[in-house]
Amino acid sequence: MEAKHLLEKYSEFKEVSITGRYLSYSSIVNYIENLPSYFIIQTEGKSVLGEKIYSIEFGNGPKKILMWSQMHGNESTTTKAVLDLLNFIAIDENDDFKNRTLEDCTIKIILVLNPDGLKNYTRVNANEVDLNRDATNQSQPESKILRKVFQEFKPHYCLNLHDQRTIFSAGSVNKPATVSFLAPAYNEAREVNTVREKAMQLIVGMSNYLQAVIPNQVGRYDDGFNINCVGDYFQAQNVPTILFEAGHYYEDYEREVTRKYIFLSLFSVVSQIISATYKDLDRKEYEKIPENDKLFNDIIIRNAEIEGEIKDVAIQYKEVLEEGKFYLMPIIEAIGDLNNRFGHKELNAENKVLRINSVKNLEIGIKIEKITLNNEIISIFLTNS
Ligand SMILES: [Zn+2]
Repeated sequence: MEAKHLLEKYSEFKEVSITGRYLSYSSIVNYIENLPSYFIIQTEGKSVLGEKIYSIEFGNGPKKILMWSQMHGNESTTTKAVLDLLNFIAIDENDDFKNRTLEDCTIKIILVLNPDGLKNYTRVNANEVDLNRDATNQSQPESKILRKVFQEFKPHYCLNLHDQRTIFSAGSVNKPATVSFLAPAYNEAREVNTVREKAMQLIVGMSNYLQAVIPNQVGRYDDGFNINCVGDYFQAQNVPTILFEAGHYYEDYEREVTRKYIFLSLFSVVSQIISATYKDLDRKEYEKIPENDKLFNDIIIRNAEIEGEIKDVAIQYKEVLEEGKFYLMPIIEAIGDLNNRFGHKELNAENKVLRINSVKNLEIGIKIEKITLNNEIISIFLTNS
């Protein structure tokens, strides 16, 4: 089904009980426990703080796909998209996607590999280890769970699901990288073998599919090799592995829009694996997907007078969890001539005098409470910040 048509139907299967950036793990567990009985739910082990880590398995087909979300606990968008995929399969009545998936594939999903990180809204686990730098070290219980599932399930494809910051552009242009992909390298020389080529071809297929709905907003992540990264490690074990990065969409700080595009990506990759159509795609098209650059800030105020000089100010939101509440805290990121950068939101100060928190001498890193231009308060932030 074409991306546009699928988006029109999206409200029929979006899991509306789980939204926003900071998710409730008990709501996710509750969701899992209420799935129809052909979804097999298993407890794969426990996190550092004793939280249960679950897998969901469905289908009886020969093509085995393993995916895991939120190995970085503060990267929740793909978890939401996976719930939408599960709903799509559970409620799908008139399309053959469900039947073909169940007949041709066996899909296993570790939904939230790092539940302690989810609860604390941290990238790392409760021992402050980045699980995506622990693939060979295997120092953490969560890493061991992923490795055990990988070895027992013996997948033919792996999908490593993440979020990226708002700074990324899809190439060196004024377009956010709303979705990025990577076919990780399996060696230092970043060679392409038939395993990595499959991952590249599947990415070309997903990128083509997404162009209809987010043209020029699909990026390609940098392929520097690190065997301690899970994707690089699995690719080196001869399983085609794809990194997904959910990124920024205009004004979508809740990542409810990007969520849809991750769902579409998952739908596309599963469809391509079922049909095997990706094998006809030219992997050289992968190199043509623009490589991510870091050209964005959340806000740029241009042409402001600061201590007698005309300068630009870049502001970046910091994601903060305070007393169980998530919010975005605006921080001064850079001051100077920022003509080589783009703001997701921009304001021309027209040479007016800029003060932040009532002071003229601005410092990088400070939290912004109030902005004035010629003593007039301006409101530029999201309502929740
Ligand atoms: Zn990540």
